[in-house]
Amino acid sequence: MLYVSTRNAEEKVTASQAVLKGLAENGGLFVPEEIPKLDVTVDALADMTYQETAYEVMKLFLTDYTEEELKKCIENAYDGKFDTEKIAPLVKAQDVSYLELFHGATIAFKDMALSILPHLLITAARKNHVTNDIVILTATSGDTGKAALAGFAGVEGTKIIVFYPKDGVSPIQQKQMVTQKGDNTFVVGINGNFDEAQTGVKKMFSDPALAEEMAGKGYQFSSANSINIGRLVPQIVYYVYAYAQMVKSGEISNGEKMNVVVPTGNFGNILAAFYAKNMGLPIGKLICASNENKVLYDFFTTGTYDRNREFILTSSPSMDILISSNLERLIYRIAGDSAQKNRELMTALQENGKYTITEDMRMLLADFYGNYASEEETAAVIREIYEETGYVIDTHTAVAAAVYKKYQHETDDKTKAVIASTASPYKFTRSVMTAIDAKYDNKPDFELIDELEVLSKVKVPQAIEDIRTAPVLHKTICEVEQMESVVKQFLGV
Ligand SMILES: *Cc1c(COP(=O)(O)O)cnc(C)c1O
Repeated sequence: MLYVSTRNAEEKVTASQAVLKGLAENGGLFVPEEIPKLDVTVDALADMTYQETAYEVMKLFLTDYTEEELKKCIENAYDGKFDTEKIAPLVKAQDVSYLELFHGATIAFKDMALSILPHLLITAARKNHVTNDIVILTATSGDTGKAALAGFAGVEGTKIIVFYPKDGVSPIQQKQMVTQKGDNTFVVGINGNFDEAQTGVKKMFSDPALAEEMAGKGYQFSSANSINIGRLVPQIVYYVYAYAQMVKSGEISNGEKMNVVVPTGNFGNILAAFYAKNMGLPIGKLICASNENKVLYDFFTTGTYDRNREFILTSSPSMDILISSNLERLIYRIAGDSAQKNRELMTALQENGKYTITEDMRMLLADFYGNYASEEETAAVIREIYEETGYVIDTHTAVAAAVYKKYQHETDDKTKAVIASTASPYKFTRSVMTAIDAKYDNKPDFELIDELEVLSKVKVPQAIEDIRTAPVLHKTICEVEQMESVVKQFLGV
C-alpha cells in the first residue's frame, strides 16, 4: 500500500516514509491510495484486546512494517501508561455510550496517537536507513505539547523540544509541561503568542542551511503534527474496538449500525471514524460537533468553507480552530481522489480564506451531519447529565453531547450512538465545576479538583496528582528571535 499526496498525484511514498516525512511537498497531506477492508470478523474482534485490535487495523495501513515491528510499537505504546487495561472503555449514560479516550498519560485523547507515534517514527527511521537522531520540534497552545512530551520522553534516538507561549497556556497546562521528566525532553516558554511560536518552528523546519548544520552533528528535525498518518491510523483503532465492544456487551447486534459523535477541531478524530466506516465497519452517521467556532457546521450546511470570521475563545479550547487541516483528506476524496481539484480549493483557501465545493461533491457528504453548541448549551448539558446520572463529562465531550441531542431532536434517528469522549473532566476542572454549580467559581484550582472527586466519585487521575508535587525541571524562557539559538544550545550544535 502506497500513500499519495493530496496535492500531487506524482508524489507516492511507502507508509514508513509518510510517517517520517509527516507532510508532503507543497503542503499536501499523505492519504492511502485505497482504504483497505477489515479482514477479521466482528465476532473475532469482540474477543480481542485493544492491542490485538490495534494490530488488525494498523497492519492494513502500515504495510511495510513487519508484524514484529508493529506489535512491538503497539506493546510499547498501550501499556501501563494507561490507567485501564481496556485502554478505551465505554461508559453508558442516558441513552448513549461514551468512548473514553482519556486514560493515557496526559488524560486527553491526543495520547491515543501520541503514545505510539514515537515508536512508529523510530521504526520508520531504521527501515529507511536514517542514522541521525530525530529531533521533534513542536509549538503548542497547551494539550499537544504535553502529550508529545509524554510520548517521546525516554524514547531512544529522539529528542523533543516544545515551545509554548509563556502567558498563553493555562496554569495546569504549564505545570504539566515544565515538570516533564526525561533526559531527551526540553521545554521553553517564549515571550510571544502561539502564532509566533508556530512561525518560529516552521522557519527552522524550512531552513536548508540549518538542516545541513544539524545533519553534520547527527540530527534531523521532524514533527509530531496531527496531519501525520502516524497519528491518524492509530485513531481508527478505537472505533473498531468500540463497535466490537458494543456487540460483545449486547448493546447492538452484529451488523447493526452505530452512529458516532465527535467533538471536532482539526478534523483528525472524525476523519479516523470516516476511514473506519470505509473499511467496512457498520457506522451510520458521522456527527461532527463544533463549538462556537462553527466553520465546519457552516461547511456541512452550505458547502462553503469560510475561515474569514472572528476567532472565539471558548471553554473547549482544543476545538478553537478556524482551519481544520485534516478536512483536506476528505475534500480530496469527495473530489474523486483528484489532487488537481483539491489543490485548486486549497489554493483558494490560502488566498481568499474560503472555497465552495460542487453539488456533486456535496452529495458525497450525505453520511455527515454537522452542528454546533453554544457556551450556554455546553454548560447546560454537563449539568443535566450530572444531575440525571452522576456522570461528569468535560467541556469538549459536552459539545458533542449537546450536538447529539440536537441531532436526535431533528431526526428522531434511533440508531445507537457512541460519543468520543476526548478529555477527562479533571483537565478542565474549573469550567466543568462551574457548569454544575456557579458557587464553585471562587475556589482555587486544586480545591476544585478535590470537589470534583467527591462529586464524580472518580479518583483524581495520576496525571493531576503528579503536578501537585512534581518539581519544575524546565525553566528556560526566551525571546521569539532566540528560538533557533536555544535549539542549538540544547543540542550542543
Ligand atoms: C485535539 C482535541 C479535540 C479535537 O480533535 P481533532 O482531531 O483536532 O478534531 C477535541 N477534544 C480534545 C480534548 C482535544 O484535545
